[in-house]
Amino acid sequence: MASYYLASNPNLPNNGCDIHRVCPEGCPNLPPPVERINLGDLPDSKTAIHVARRKFYNHAHLIDGCAHCTNSTPHETLN
Ligand SMILES: [Zn+2]
Repeated sequence: MASYYLASNPNLPNNGCDIHRVCPEGCPNLPPPVERINLGDLPDSKTAIHVARRKFYNHAHLIDGCAHCTNSTPHETLN
């Protein structure tokens, strides 16, 4: 389990960035604490996205996984 965050608050107006990313704790793409929402301790990013979309159902189409976290696999390392 890991703490997951929504990396921006859908209820706040944002400056042209309409997509709200879901990231686990420790992701380098996470914004400062004031700009993120704790989704709780969840088993994986897929669940976290589901929780975020349910919580902000009127913005669900704008909520997606963080590219950094979702697309990386344990086999891929950037050396
Ligand atoms: Zn991330």
